Amino acid sequence: MVTKKEVDKFIKNQKSIHLYKKVQKALRDVLLAMSDEDYRKVTKNLILMVVHETSYGQLMYHSPVKSKFKILQLSVAKDIDINILRWIIAHELGHATQGRNWRRGDDEKLEKDADKKAEKWGFKKTKAIQKYGDKEYTGIKKLYKRINKK
Ligand SMILES: [Zn+2]
Repeated sequence: MVTKKEVDKFIKNQKSIHLYKKVQKALRDVLLAMSDEDYRKVTKNLILMVVHETSYGQLMYHSPVKSKFKILQLSVAKDIDINILRWIIAHELGHATQGRNWRRGDDEKLEKDADKKAEKWGFKKTKAIQKYGDKEYTGIKKLYKRINKK
């Protein structure tokens, strides 16, 4: 099992979340739920880019990384339910075990796999999470429509 000390060190090194206590907590809960093997795979060369809804952008300095690294980008509503936030983080870290990006022909394969990984770590996609996702998705579709009209 991964130790709390290790997880706290990883979280402390993630510059973009140093002010976001809720994200730190959710991330900590998810990382501590993983097997040692998954933890190493997921956190290896992982950089989080997290912005709260009132922030329009950010620039962060990072130490040099010698091999392939991955960036996890999260934009987080301030009043987000911690269970939903935990699931989102677990799902995204599920992608971090896949070792590559989506490509044509994958369809929903990688998404389903990420859901499965999250569930394995104890974060099941509940009805509330599904509903939240649909709401966000509808919001994005509306936004695109508005932008394209201009
Ligand atoms: Zn996904």
